[in-house]
Amino acid sequence: EGSLNDPERQSGDALDRALRPQSFADYVGQESIKSNLKVYVEAARGRGEALDHVLLFGPPGLGKTTLAQIVSKELGVGFRSTSGPVIAKAGDLAAILTNLEENDVLFIDEIHRLPPAVEEILYPAMEDYALDIVIGEGPSARSVRLDLAPFTLVGATTRAGLLANPLRDRFGIPMRLNFYEPKELARILMAAGRKMGADLSEDGALEIAGRARGTPRIAIRLLRRVRDFAEAEGARIDKAAAGRALSRLEIDEDGLDALDRRYLAALVMTYAGGPVGADTLAAALSEARDAVEDVIEPFLMQKGYVARTPRGRIAAPLAYERMGLSAPDIKSQ
Ligand code: ATP
Repeated sequence: EGSLNDPERQSGDALDRALRPQSFADYVGQESIKSNLKVYVEAARGRGEALDHVLLFGPPGLGKTTLAQIVSKELGVGFRSTSGPVIAKAGDLAAILTNLEENDVLFIDEIHRLPPAVEEILYPAMEDYALDIVIGEGPSARSVRLDLAPFTLVGATTRAGLLANPLRDRFGIPMRLNFYEPKELARILMAAGRKMGADLSEDGALEIAGRARGTPRIAIRLLRRVRDFAEAEGARIDKAAAGRALSRLEIDEDGLDALDRRYLAALVMTYAGGPVGADTLAAALSEARDAVEDVIEPFLMQKGYVARTPRGRIAAPLAYERMGLSAPDIKSQ
């Protein structure tokens, strides 16, 4: 229960795809990113050139894939999509790169998980639109340079810090996505509700939005569950119905779910408020360290429950409050 391995917490089925906005105009929030991207897209389009490479980083489910698709649509070019862990060999990436058409967008999700040998061939590809291929073996081996069509790489990662410097430096347009405001999530939910044919009121959408950890993917997942409960009750999804369903889903007023609460309990009770390392916490929760750092902590930090320090995670007074405890006096450093 409340596990990241729970399929419910994963993304990407047919409905999700159907809900994807198709243009900047339909993409809610992330205003400064959007307005800058619009300028860059216009300029590249006007010159008939490939857009500079874009790095999108931020927690999962914030709409990075969606935004990459929109960029290709707004550029009026093709979209190819793959992910770091899927590309095992340099040849796999070479095959994809040589099949791109002029100015296409290539989206690589989880780009921090590319094997180093694959990353190597990406450098000349990004810089010079060229592929260096070694033909033959031993003393007779020689390197041949192959020209590629100009293209735009859109890389996505949960944290920019996970990328090797030489790779990160090759992105002309790095952009950090932020958590969404409840009002923005409510707009996303209203649009999704219409497409799903759900009977969702505005205060119902806002109720779900306030408990969705600032994340569209979670908001939409909650909407689907809430809709199941509301249909079973024969009710429309208004504030009260949404509230009842969300309580049954064990999501509290602040949007913390069972896993968030287990994290706070471990930090505050088991480890006396810290400092405690991410590995230790991950082991205590039986979750992968990546999941703890990418999924659980960003939201808890943003909400002021937890702080990351060089010595490890420490519980903020708010975390003690949540556990019904009083915070200890500020520890001497
Ligand atoms: P990421 O790549 O960052 O993990 P994503 O692009 O896969 O995220 P989803 O997790 O698929 O985004 O988002 C779930 C759904 O939420 C999308 O199918 C889309 O319908 C909707 N969505 C996400 N961001 C926005 C947005 N800014 N405006 C409108 N709808 C959005």
